[in-house]
Amino acid sequence: MTSHKPNFLWPTNVNYLSTKGFWEGLRGRQLLARKCHRCGEMFFPPRSHCPQCLGHDLEWVELSGKGTLYSWTEVNIASPEFDTPFLLGLVDLSQGIGRIAAKIVGAEAHQLRIGMPVKITYADVGKDFSLYCITIEQ
Ligand SMILES: [Zn+2]
Repeated sequence: MTSHKPNFLWPTNVNYLSTKGFWEGLRGRQLLARKCHRCGEMFFPPRSHCPQCLGHDLEWVELSGKGTLYSWTEVNIASPEFDTPFLLGLVDLSQGIGRIAAKIVGAEAHQLRIGMPVKITYADVGKDFSLYCITIEQ
């Protein structure tokens, strides 16, 4: 039987000027971070100013989407929007600029190991809207 649950929570910052490009990037299968023109700092998640120098002159840069599995858990109790159980992972991005949390798809718990290579993939979850997921790097 197919679930009718959305299996995601609608982000509240989809139309914020500082994050809109990030969500548009996901739709185009790109994981985007910000880079500061003033000091060169790259950072993730996106925000309106540089955490290093507070500069506002920022550009979008594409990340590889590769990383290592920092940790994971099986979620058995979640908000009503989700089917359970599902696997949730934390990934250290290979550029060393952040840790990202997402659902793990296409893998079962017994296949997961801390420190294993993983990559970000994308899922269309609504009209003109996509999210990122974690998959095991093959
Ligand atoms: Zn800066």
